[in-house]
Formats: sequence, structure tokens, C-alpha cells
Amino acid sequence: MKYLDEFRDPELAKKYIGLIKGITTKPWTIMEICGGQTHSLVKNGIIDVLPKEINMVHGPGCPVCVTPVHLIDKAVFLAKQENVILCSFGDMIRVPGSVMSLAKAKSEGASVKVVYSPLEAVTIAQKNPEKEVVFFAVGFETTAPANALSVIQADKMGVKNYSILTSHVLVPPAMEAILGAEDNKIQGFLAAGHVCTVMGYEEYFSIAKQYKTPMVVTGFEPLDLLQGIYMLVKQLEEGRIDVENQYSRIVKREGNVEAQKTIFEVFEIKDRDWRGVGTISNSGYEIKEKYSQYDADKKFAIKIEKAEENAECIAGEILKGNKKPFECIHFGKKCNPEHPLGAPMVSSEGACAAYYHFSSDVFELM
Ligand code: SF4
Repeated sequence: MKYLDEFRDPELAKKYIGLIKGITTKPWTIMEICGGQTHSLVKNGIIDVLPKEINMVHGPGCPVCVTPVHLIDKAVFLAKQENVILCSFGDMIRVPGSVMSLAKAKSEGASVKVVYSPLEAVTIAQKNPEKEVVFFAVGFETTAPANALSVIQADKMGVKNYSILTSHVLVPPAMEAILGAEDNKIQGFLAAGHVCTVMGYEEYFSIAKQYKTPMVVTGFEPLDLLQGIYMLVKQLEEGRIDVENQYSRIVKREGNVEAQKTIFEVFEIKDRDWRGVGTISNSGYEIKEKYSQYDADKKFAIKIEKAEENAECIAGEILKGNKKPFECIHFGKKCNPEHPLGAPMVSSEGACAAYYHFSSDVFELM
């Protein structure tokens, strides 16, 4: 297949739905890791046409959703400083912190700029030498190469007024945390195709073996997801535990080695807090000492109280696969895209936003 619409072919989709129905004999709970996959599953109605035995639950692969509230508070604090321009991707702007979002801070006069790349933030730093420019570097392994590259570029060009506020999280430790929980119900994973494009999937074999959980690296188009689900259900029904690659047109087992070198030039692996989930060992990147002058956490004396997460939001339970968005009592009522209580309602990869925008049936269930 060559063109995008071929990955949305209705006849092939029907064929895969038939194949999945034909092999499914037992109930299976499957988690898709990535919020992009969640949106595609809900938006394209795939959730609704799967056999009733297949329960798709939605994983933690929405970087905006898992960014802890105290980091958003730090970004707001920095944006309010006289000499700082805070740059961010657009999807972080409306996520609530404990007091306000970056959008609210901007409306009150803080200097917040939406950029499309961290290199754009480096250019802003070059053009504004009297200001400190901070890029809010949020993401999984996928965005880490570009964020690392921005630090390398700033260093090469001698741009000293650039730094990044890092909130990078890693997928495999989160999978292990979910599978190792006492109340885990996940029997198979659709692994995130874009993360594996960068990192490969070598490390998934030992996780699959240890937790007896098959995995399929899967893409994002409707046919990718249907094929990934078919491959995973086939493994489950046959009692096989393997890691297979549905997204082979993009993903290699070893990943993108050059991108990995760029990441590990700048970052090292450390423990990370996940919003609604808690601390997961070795689950994030932090800037190495060598580049510490580009680490906003070290560059600025950020003094804020570590705030609690909003107790009304059950995002943690949704991100661990224990609940669905419509099981939150605030879904579509007190919490909606205009007035979000939690990040999953505003992020373009958030599960609550996916159901709110694309699933009309869900309101009948409430
Ligand atoms: S609907 Fe709103 S309050 Fe409920 S889990 Fe989702 S983001 Fe949180």
C-alpha cells in the first residue's frame, strides 16, 4: 500500500473485522498504549464493531495527560517571570495546573508562545538575546530526539539564553508498572508504533516473557489497528506469547539508532512522576550534567509548592486501564473541553477527549 486512504479501505476493514470475529472465542482485555491509537479507534468506530468479547482499554500514552500538575505549575511560574518567554506545543496550553493553565497565564500577560518545533524556540532565543527562552519539553521517546537536538544546536551556536523544562516519560517502564499491579487486567498490548520507530522493540521481549503478555507493535490508521488487533487476538487464542510487528513499513526491531544516539548525548534515564499514576522507577529522561546549563530546572530557582492532583479527576484509573472515560461521574458534565478538570479532556491524544468528540453512544451510557 502506498497512499493514506488505502489504510482506510472499508472493504479491507470489513475483511479484518470478519477475521477477528472468526478467531475470537473468549473475552480478552487489550490495551492500546498510545493516545493517537485511542483516538483512531474511537473516531473510526472500530471500538463499536469489534466482537463483544474484546474489551479495549486505553493506556498511558498521552504525554500531556501524564505530565504532573507541579510541572505545569513550574511552566506557569516561568512564563510569569519578566525576562522569560515560555515556548510550548499547543496541546499543553489549556491543560490545568493547580492554579491555572498556561493559556490563563497568557491572558494575564505572561509571555507564552506556541511553537511547532523546539528548534523554533532556539531561533526565538537567538532573536531575543535579552530574554531567557524556555521550551516546555513534554513527550515520550518520540519527541526526545528533537528536544535533545535543540540543546545540541543551542550549544553549538552558543545560544546561552535557551533551556528546556523537561517532562519526558518512557513507555516500557509504564507497561511494566501496569502489568505488575495487583489489579492488572491487561492480557495483551498494542505497542505504540511511533515510540518503536525511534526506540525499536527489543526490550519488549523480556517484558512480554516476564508478564506472560503478548504484544503487537501497531500503527495508527484504521487498517493498522484492525490488523494489530487480529494479530494480538490470534496470539491470545493460540496461547502464544510473542512480540510481533504490524507496523513493519516504519518500525525496525532496533529502531532508529541515530535518533537514539542523539537522545543519549543529552539525556539520561531517571525516575519520573506520572500524573495520576505516581512515581515510576527509571521511567523518564533528565538532562545530563554536561548540558546542565540548558536545564530550566537548574537554571532558575523555581520555588513552588508541590500541588496535589485534582481529586475529582480519575485520569490515573483511566490511564492504567481500570476505568473508561464515561465511568467518570464528571465526564461531559462538570468536565468538558471548555471547562476541563483533567488533561485527558483537552489533550489531542486524551481518552476523555476522544470519547467526548467522537463517540455519541457514550452519552447514552451515562
Ligand atoms: S472526564 Fe474529566 S475529570 Fe473525568 S477523568 Fe476525564 S479528564 Fe478527568
